[in-house]
Amino acid sequence: MASPALVAVIGSGPAGIYAAEALVKQTDGDVRVDVFDRLPTPYGLVRYGVAPDHKSIKSIAKYLQRVLENPAVRFFGCVELGRDVSRTELLDCYDAVIYSTGAMVDRQLRIPGEELPGSIAATDFVNWYCGHPDAADHSFDLSVEEVAVIGVGNVAVDVVRILAKTAGELRETDVPEQVIEALSASRVKRVHMIGRRGPAQAKFTTKEARELGELPNASIHVSPEDMDLDPASAELAGSDRKVGGNIKALSAWTGEPAAGRPRHIDVRFWRAPAEIIGSDRVEGLKLERTRLDETGRVIGTGEFETLPVGLVMRSVGYQSVPLDGVPFDERSYTVPNEGGRITGPDGDPVPREYVAGWIKRGPSGVVGTNKSDAAETVRNLLEDLEGAETNPKRTIEELLESRGLPVVTYEDWLRLDAAEIALAESLDRGERVKLARWEAMTSACRGRE
Ligand code: NAP
Repeated sequence: MASPALVAVIGSGPAGIYAAEALVKQTDGDVRVDVFDRLPTPYGLVRYGVAPDHKSIKSIAKYLQRVLENPAVRFFGCVELGRDVSRTELLDCYDAVIYSTGAMVDRQLRIPGEELPGSIAATDFVNWYCGHPDAADHSFDLSVEEVAVIGVGNVAVDVVRILAKTAGELRETDVPEQVIEALSASRVKRVHMIGRRGPAQAKFTTKEARELGELPNASIHVSPEDMDLDPASAELAGSDRKVGGNIKALSAWTGEPAAGRPRHIDVRFWRAPAEIIGSDRVEGLKLERTRLDETGRVIGTGEFETLPVGLVMRSVGYQSVPLDGVPFDERSYTVPNEGGRITGPDGDPVPREYVAGWIKRGPSGVVGTNKSDAAETVRNLLEDLEGAETNPKRTIEELLESRGLPVVTYEDWLRLDAAEIALAESLDRGERVKLARWEAMTSACRGRE
């Protein structure tokens, strides 16, 4: 192994930055880590996935910042794997490469009407309110009065909460100005959150669910029949802390909803989406009633109902996308690996290539889960590099320079960071207001208004 070892990390979300941190810690700094991102901004889902009103989770960025400021770590923004540098070129420049590109694409429902205008992937809506540059020009028809959010995971809870809050409640957050304007004009009155299984099978966590019941401008209701628990679910509610907590939180919403609030949330269980209805845009959502069979599998009962919604937000999970030349399992949408070591079709490890985060294990866990996940990958990487003959053939600087790429450095990002903080001050809005358009972001990186 060359000393110091040279490692490239692809993706500057929590998994990538925790991997950089583990590399520095586990080698006592005898390493050089280059962290790449296709965006000019670091922090991945902490910046573009964590909801704007979840300030304490967002503050993880401060911890991640310290890693990027370690002298052994460099940030290369606006460099995209596959577009600007190839996998083989990276392997020419580094002793090892860690892919931590996350899971940024929405899973499909595969039901009729899914492609209708007004049927929206939650990822698009989340990207939009989080100020992701790919979604800056998206628009959502918030002139409708009823919206369905499919799925009962934490992303669905975030989406429901943002739809149910007033723009005024979000003014102190970092959402872009155009998002505040669009939300101010929202005419949404009723949001349905729909689970295809029962309350004991909901994926959301109790703390997140409770926040829906604490919204000052929205009432909430769950029908008592939807809270009926089969014996197995009742047992689970007694033995599993999260399930028990969720049932308690949900049970508090079975009574008469608070009166006089401008918005209302209906949480509905035992309903699977069957069809999104409409001729040239969403006009309704057809749901089939469900139950669990004796094996715990969800099955349809043949009873249908239609909700008169004008927007459907599909929040049924994320999935990773394959990276050119890197093995990919099309069933689990992850890169096959053992402890972060990528494995090839023969099951043997692929030399010098590793994964961390959601592309390694699928979209699960909280931000902090990525820390131990990345540390495991790094332990295995360093064990493999010990005594290995690796001689990078060229330098990344030479390669990027030869392409004339407008790379964003960490110092460039700090200028954009400062511009967002200044914008918040000028608008009298919280600590930061995000710049969402590519042009505005890259201009700010160069120190131009
Ligand atoms: P998730 O937790 O996997 O939830 C996905 C939901 O979609 C489940 O309710 C699932 O139901 C449902 N679903 C899947 N396929 C469906 C179908 N065909 N029809 C109807 N419903 C379907 O995924 P997520 O909400 O995207 O969250 C991803 C990860 O990020 C999770 O680990 C989550 O905790 C984390 N996250 C955390 C926070 C936070 O801590 N505040 C915030 C956001 C996200 P089934 O269970 O029946 O499959």
